[in-house]
Amino acid sequence: MPLEIVTIPCRADNYAYLLHDMATGATAVVDVPDAAPISAELSKRGWTLSDILITHHHDDHISGVPGLKAETGARIIGAAADAHRLPPLDLAVREGDTVSIGATDGTVIDVSGHTIGHIAFSFPGAVFTADSLMALGCGRLFEGDPATMWASLRKLAALPGDTLVYSGHEYTADNATFALTIDPDNPALIARARDVARARAARHPTVPSRLSLELDTNPFLRATAPEVKAHVGMTGASDAEVFAEIRRRKNAF
Ligand code: ZN
Ligand code: FE
Repeated sequence: MPLEIVTIPCRADNYAYLLHDMATGATAVVDVPDAAPISAELSKRGWTLSDILITHHHDDHISGVPGLKAETGARIIGAAADAHRLPPLDLAVREGDTVSIGATDGTVIDVSGHTIGHIAFSFPGAVFTADSLMALGCGRLFEGDPATMWASLRKLAALPGDTLVYSGHEYTADNATFALTIDPDNPALIARARDVARARAARHPTVPSRLSLELDTNPFLRATAPEVKAHVGMTGASDAEVFAEIRRRKNAF
């Protein structure tokens, strides 16, 4: 892989990621919950920050941006649609735009739903999804409706199956408990829930996860599966309707 990726735990359960382009030494960060742990990791590795990539406007993803910008002068990249509620952008992007970290090109995907204007950054082998597609879950719908989030998840589901999904929070253990109420007989989910419990007991991150595993076990992506439709009593309903019902149940869980 052309990018070396470093996971940085921030705050209670947020993740930020460093993306280091090995060919050029360019280094980006995806989201800045806090500046301090990111600066510390950069100096530990001797890396110079070139780019700050913002997924969405929530405080737990951007509050460290001004400090990190002041310290590094890195280029700030975020959604044009959200420019009015993000720190000042040096590059405003839309779906389909290319974002280059040194010699490595990524693509912007609009993944609105959790918020309107939430974007994901897709690089070869890795997609940064923050609070859209998450490990065994998806973000709560603060601004978008279920149809919007469903369309966003379908775009992510169409990426190559071996893509690693880097989401914004360590929520996987709770997500697994909920997933088992929707898809209790899925052997891949049962096995994954066990793996997640073991990883968390050892305080290991459960993020990133492979997209193919999400397709097999994430109850929101599994809204297409006949057995999931049957389990929620919606045989014959559309995928988007079943997704909406699963999201409704998660809100009440
Ligand atoms: Zn958020
Ligand atoms: Fe968040």
